[in-house]
Amino acid sequence: MAENKRKIVLVGTGMVGMSFAYAALNQSLCDELVLIDIDERRARGEAMDLNHGLAFLNSRMEVSVGGYSECSDADIVVICAGVNQKPGESRLELLQRNTKVFASIVPQVVRSGFDGVFLVATNPVDIMTRVTYELSGFNAAKVIGTGTTLDTARLRYLLGEYFEVDPRNIHAYVIGEHGDSEFVPWSQAILAVKPIDDVLADNPASYSMEELDRISLEVRNAAQEIISAKGATYYGIGVAIVRIAKALLSDENSVLTVSVRLRGEYGGKKDVFIGNPCIISSGGAKRLLELKLTEEELEKLNKSCEVLNQNFRSLAL
Ligand code: NAD
Repeated sequence: MAENKRKIVLVGTGMVGMSFAYAALNQSLCDELVLIDIDERRARGEAMDLNHGLAFLNSRMEVSVGGYSECSDADIVVICAGVNQKPGESRLELLQRNTKVFASIVPQVVRSGFDGVFLVATNPVDIMTRVTYELSGFNAAKVIGTGTTLDTARLRYLLGEYFEVDPRNIHAYVIGEHGDSEFVPWSQAILAVKPIDDVLADNPASYSMEELDRISLEVRNAAQEIISAKGATYYGIGVAIVRIAKALLSDENSVLTVSVRLRGEYGGKKDVFIGNPCIISSGGAKRLLELKLTEEELEKLNKSCEVLNQNFRSLAL
């Protein structure tokens, strides 16, 4: 990490990238934020717009437009660049196009001498994080994706409402692919110090597993619901990226469900990048926490890994 000056380079100044940048500005996340986009004019307009807001904030963040050489002394490179799904285009075709986009970004970042952490948000995020890892040749600890961070935040919020408890006292995680095969390992969910299974058993008239399953479905479908209502999702993920970046910059050792590379966990799973609770420090993914899953949960995780591996292998990297 650079001494004193906290610097982030953002690649991709679309809706997600700029929601992150706006939240970063409001929270004084770093000292320097450099914007890069293939559409340089757009990036310039975004930098001007953000800088005009600075006059009303206590933040002294420097926002500018730059080239890839700016990554050389950055602490974090956030990637939100990507192309949108065309009508009739398959998920795999989109994946192939986004891989081409990353092939034009990641090697340039590496050539600058960048030695910080890659933080990827572009979808399908677990696969794009793995693509970044392969293209960069970086140590896996220094390549993370947003994974199921936002899904986990949504889950904890909804569980807080259901149990009428502060979400900060709910310890439950969404794990697996950020997508259709993600799931909640309920065997690992805890209310303060009490396992959720025990909370249900002690209060059968008030709470049920059916309701919890409904909540996890609501979490899984949230993005689609937002997309059908307003076309895209960006504010939530923007704040989630700020949260992860803060944990990195402040060497927090916070546990977040980022997308990380498995190295033999869960019965020998390797290489795949997947959402799992992980300790985040200034060096990136410090330690992955392997959960004690039930057989049924392990089966769900296997399915998630399979989906991600199949999609990744279909790419010509
Ligand atoms: P957008 O179309 O608004 O922005 C994409 C930006 O990428 C554009 O400004 C475009 O010019 C830029 N870009 C394209 N090719 C580039 C290249 N080669 N080099 C540099 N910049 C390039 O899209 P968006 O709504 O901001 O979404 C961005 C990505 O984030 C999408 O893949 C989307 O699916 C994903 N997303 C992820 C999550 C999550 O939870 N991880 C949530 C929402 C969206």
